[in-house]
Amino acid sequence: MADTTESESRKLLVRLREAMAGDDAGQARLDKITHLIADSMGTEVCSVYLFRDEETLELCATQGLNRESVHQTRMRIGEGLVGRVAKYGKVVNTPDAPNAKGFRYMPETGEERFSSFLGVPVQRLGEMLGVLVVQSKEGREFSADAVYALEVVAMVIAEMTELGAFVGEGAALSPLHQQPVLIHGTSAQEGAAEGHVWLHEPRVIVTNPIADDPQRELERMNSAVEELRVGVDKMLEVSRNGDKDQLQVLEAYRMFANSKGWMRRMEEDIARGLSAEAAVEKEQSQARARMSQVQDAYLRERLSDLDDLSNRLLRILTGQGADTGAELPDNPILIARNIGPGDLLEYGRGLRGIVLEEGSVGSHAAIVARALAIPLVVNAKRVTTEALNGDHIMVDGDQGVVHLRPDETVVGAFRDKIAMHAQAQERYASIRSKPAVTTDGQRINMVMNAGLMADLPSLDSSGAEGVGLFRTELQFLVRNQMPKRSELVALYKRVLDAAHGKPVIFRTLDIGSDKVLPYMKPTDEPNPALGWRAIRVGLDKPGIMRMQLQALLRSAEGRPLSIMFPFVAQFEEYRAAKAEVDKTIERERILGHVLPAELEIGAMLETPSLAYAPQKFFDEVAFISIGGNDLKQFFFAADRENERVRRRYDTLNVSFLSFIERIVERCAISGTPLSFCGEDAGRPVEAVCLAAMGIRTLSMRPASIGPVKSLLLRVDLGELRKIISDARHRGDQAVRPAVMKYLREL
Ligand code: PEP
Ligand code: MG
Repeated sequence: MADTTESESRKLLVRLREAMAGDDAGQARLDKITHLIADSMGTEVCSVYLFRDEETLELCATQGLNRESVHQTRMRIGEGLVGRVAKYGKVVNTPDAPNAKGFRYMPETGEERFSSFLGVPVQRLGEMLGVLVVQSKEGREFSADAVYALEVVAMVIAEMTELGAFVGEGAALSPLHQQPVLIHGTSAQEGAAEGHVWLHEPRVIVTNPIADDPQRELERMNSAVEELRVGVDKMLEVSRNGDKDQLQVLEAYRMFANSKGWMRRMEEDIARGLSAEAAVEKEQSQARARMSQVQDAYLRERLSDLDDLSNRLLRILTGQGADTGAELPDNPILIARNIGPGDLLEYGRGLRGIVLEEGSVGSHAAIVARALAIPLVVNAKRVTTEALNGDHIMVDGDQGVVHLRPDETVVGAFRDKIAMHAQAQERYASIRSKPAVTTDGQRINMVMNAGLMADLPSLDSSGAEGVGLFRTELQFLVRNQMPKRSELVALYKRVLDAAHGKPVIFRTLDIGSDKVLPYMKPTDEPNPALGWRAIRVGLDKPGIMRMQLQALLRSAEGRPLSIMFPFVAQFEEYRAAKAEVDKTIERERILGHVLPAELEIGAMLETPSLAYAPQKFFDEVAFISIGGNDLKQFFFAADRENERVRRRYDTLNVSFLSFIERIVERCAISGTPLSFCGEDAGRPVEAVCLAAMGIRTLSMRPASIGPVKSLLLRVDLGELRKIISDARHRGDQAVRPAVMKYLREL
């Protein structure tokens, strides 16, 4: 076979470019390319297989195999040698193909005459587009040099495919990124949204994969890498005293930016005729392919660092990127691999929906998306590779499904769903100012959960009677440094102002567990949900707690104030926290600050232990709010963040409802006001059952108030209670079936 030196490679790429520049239609181009490659590599056969759909590869052009088989021969991913290259993204190089493991004879192609086989993946940034194959009669293995040369050519074909160079007359190939794609992810915030894709990290388009002047490309590369290194060093300088994790990432960036191996490979690619950006992308594609195979978490992270770094380098080289000045499309739906809460807040409520390729239900981004009530789907595999800016997209946050470039039937069905949502919203708006009174005359107090200033307008629009839980940690989570006391005073004051006299319950910081402040040293705990969090941190390191208490007291400016402590597990913790409040009040008095007209200090009941606290606790505490999310996870010993177990136990399990009933009874003895503020308060069926167990205040997301109230208005709590009791006596595990039967017959 012909020598495949650098200059040979370069010549081939130049000929390829000429073929691309010609007037040929898609198919003719592909045919010409296979001819050129076979000729240049001295092989009898060169074939291009491209994906027809996610599972099927199709022979799209060939030099040397039977021409009739073009667009006829197909194989599933993983099938035959070609299918194997596509499945694993790895080169197959064998001198004796017919006897190689996995060989599948395709009679229509006549390929059994050829012994040696070399197949390389055609991939672009982790997206497998097809397979490029050369074959010859002579039975020998292709040299490492030949493999390398073919990989460089495959890279160019990938770029050309992406640019739509092979679409057109006779090609029977549909252009990439125009097909409808359905992606199944995980729901992290309900709701349905239709709009257009906005990529948080725009896709860099390389329009010039082939370059004539390697020397010039090398210079471009070197100066871009220099700019990158300086940038990384600057970032390191700024973060020197910051977060350890971030430093680690930057150190890894620096290591790669200075890595001789990385640079050498890219220099070799350039020497073979690739442009600087195509060389970066080739390395990036291969790193992504490795990333999908690697199991080790540490290695995966490092590969993902390398991926980020390559993106930066590509942006420097192409001048494309975050500062292109492009404007958000109408009804933007944000697509990102992952996003921090700060970035998400910057986009704010303008977003219609969010789809994350990674992310998790409990991530900070999810907390913010929930607070902003923006439908969010996480774990949406490949969405950043499939989506292009401006694409039509529909996000079903209820099902955790994303329709990218949907076809008409999907659009119709989806719009019906949105319309039904809208109709329901109208119904809810009509009962907004109506009190939630059940048919047997029980009045339920409907309040809302909040955590951002942006939530406050929902007080009016939802008809909430107050804020039953203001999660103060969000303000701490979304910043890069600890907020100042004066900032907190201003914020809490704005919250109280916006509430116009409706009651607001501020919960003191609940950090630790899943909520790690970016500027606090993370502690490595075996099980953080059961670890050093919330009031435990507050009591052990009272500095932040005192600062927050001062801010709260000052923000009231003489108005009534309610504060509650999260995660109280025993009476003593409540007493100690209350003592801190008393001390802070004393200090404020001495400093001459106005004190709240009334001050109520409550506790969240989130651990089963507190339900059995001494009666004196119930006598002393001003109010109790059941944090059902935490309480349920500890009651059933099922982590709320763990997808495998988090839905395993029903809230309507008789054990849990009996436990709630017990808490209601204990509060009734002392006359302690009781509310429920976990997610279940916002689920209509669960909410009416909680009311039937005796809960009279439900605190939920504003969007849930309408649906919950609408059901409450139709139920008889006495009857419901009897149904629940009967189910219990029958020995049912959960009362759900009996309750559902009753609700259906309403
Ligand atoms: C809860 O645990 O139910 C609760 C309301 O608190 P968070 O969800 O913030 O832990
Ligand atoms: Mg909680």
